[in-house]
Amino acid sequence: MSESPQEILSRVFGYRQFRPLQQEIVQGLIDGEDAFVLMPTGGGKSLCYQIPALCRQGVAIVVSPLISLMKDQVDALVANGVSAAYYNSTLKSAEARQVLARLHQGQLDLLYIAPERLMNQGFLERLAEVPIGLFAIDEAHCVSQWGHDFRPEYVQLGRLRQHFAGIPLIALTATADAQTRDDIRLRLGLDQARCFVAGFDRPNIRYTVVDKHKPSAQLAAFLESRASGDAGIVYALSRKRVEEVAARLAAAGIQAAAYHAGLPGSERRRVQEAFLRDELQVVVATVAFGMGIDKPNVRFVVHYDLPKNIESYYQETGRAGRDGLPAEALLLFGYGDVAVARGLIEQGGNPEQVRIELHKLNAMIGFAEALTCRRRVLLGYFGERLEADCGNCDFCLNPPQQYDATVDAQKALSCVYRVGQRFGVGHVIDVLRGSKNQRILELGHQRLSTYGIGAEQSREGWSSLIRQLIHHGFLEQDVANYSVLKLTEAARPLLRGEQQLMLGKPRLRVREQTRPTRKRIGEIDYDQELFDALRALRKDIARDAGVPPFVVFGDATLAEMAAELPTDSEALLRINGVGKHKLRRYGDRFLEEIVSHLGR
Ligand code: ADP
Ligand code: ZN
Repeated sequence: MSESPQEILSRVFGYRQFRPLQQEIVQGLIDGEDAFVLMPTGGGKSLCYQIPALCRQGVAIVVSPLISLMKDQVDALVANGVSAAYYNSTLKSAEARQVLARLHQGQLDLLYIAPERLMNQGFLERLAEVPIGLFAIDEAHCVSQWGHDFRPEYVQLGRLRQHFAGIPLIALTATADAQTRDDIRLRLGLDQARCFVAGFDRPNIRYTVVDKHKPSAQLAAFLESRASGDAGIVYALSRKRVEEVAARLAAAGIQAAAYHAGLPGSERRRVQEAFLRDELQVVVATVAFGMGIDKPNVRFVVHYDLPKNIESYYQETGRAGRDGLPAEALLLFGYGDVAVARGLIEQGGNPEQVRIELHKLNAMIGFAEALTCRRRVLLGYFGERLEADCGNCDFCLNPPQQYDATVDAQKALSCVYRVGQRFGVGHVIDVLRGSKNQRILELGHQRLSTYGIGAEQSREGWSSLIRQLIHHGFLEQDVANYSVLKLTEAARPLLRGEQQLMLGKPRLRVREQTRPTRKRIGEIDYDQELFDALRALRKDIARDAGVPPFVVFGDATLAEMAAELPTDSEALLRINGVGKHKLRRYGDRFLEEIVSHLGR
């Protein structure tokens, strides 16, 4: 072993320092130990086995569930001059033979493979004949039925540990919950392995929750506030909704496309490819979209509808900002969605399952409703404690104002009572605001004593208030009966004027604070114009090479170039993400661009 892990980190990957835990994990593997690694998305799991793969004798076998991810990973390694390949069903037979030949000739440092291929008897026999440096199992939670992504073909991986005793095995996942964790270790025979748990915080992601009232206008306003060219994902619950939202965005001139499981495979591939290649700005998708998306420069994730639980929410928002640059997670939260989600869960069969899912949904609602720092709530859910408020969520940046809502609450509650506890939110608000619509007149509700007593407040104001009354338990919605509003026992003292109620003022606008300046990485200013020019250059190079742009250089690397303004190879090599191989391949073109920009 001539080169140290630190030297490889710098020469091959162009990075100055290991991130937390990376170095220990790498060293453990090099010393022949097993490892179980829990790290959030974007934490830098890949390097944990890629560097040992280059240090140890023999090939590293990397198990990965998704074919599209394998290709990206291999492309990225090859761009850094590493000898890597994948072996899966997309290869033509001649290509597959070639990969196997390279494997047998000891030419590969890493081989990515799907689990069912690996565990095939013929392949295992093949492996017995070649020196193996290590096994890495990516997305290891797929082995557990407790996890949210169980894949039957992963179960067989349990046999690896016995088949190849003595060869280090590392399993990696971003799934946090303790039960899944134990299950993974048990199933993969890693109960004795050292366990590395990185913090789950993603400090560069800004979490924002707004009351959902006109989602389509709210989304449009949010997108307008973004710098053009920023890529993002909008998650919606149903295929129909996905198509509607995508069509509306496209009509508004945004490069957007729909993605859901009902579309033909060819269309889904097209959308995914275009998104990876920075040729599509927004993908509107059901949760079907994401597992295969390792795009590091996703700048925002919007939840148009309520996620089912915090695990899903955290995973989906985690797809933003993998490159460590500022990113946004916006959730549009509406009480209508809560009723729908409850209804869907309650239709489910197994009562135990229903109980768990309702519990998880309630935690999700608790997050959306929270009157404390969002990040505290999220991390708290995963058992982590923040020392202080995060300073980078909507609550921290713009705490809701509290106000005395007693009189408003009385108005709303008595209106629910006057309409006979037989109507939903919309109608109650119509009565409060003195609407003259057909239904009111037909029912004679214009004669109620509460008719028009809330005309001074907007619809959105009332709906926020009613939602808070629901969440504070003064009102309940009859899910089985058109979400009709009913008073609870708790409403009595409030109606009788025996109780005072303080509530948060609603936040309806997506952005009330001024737009964050985007010309910053941490505290460094960079030249936005140059950054854009470097992005364009990157896209050209990537297109010619047939790889996604981030394989050439990540956004963080380009931003650092636009801040440091290197004008010779030596200075360029000091930029994070520029290794020797890429310097040789692309260095001149990027230097040329920078120099000509400076001369302008
Ligand atoms: P994960 O698989 O945990 O989601 P990745 O391995 O894809 O994360 O890494 C996320 C990003 O962080 C990648 O762009 C990667 O190149 C970058 N990265 C990883 N380790 C380092 C490091 N030590 N220094 C700088 N960037 C790093
Ligand atoms: Zn906060």
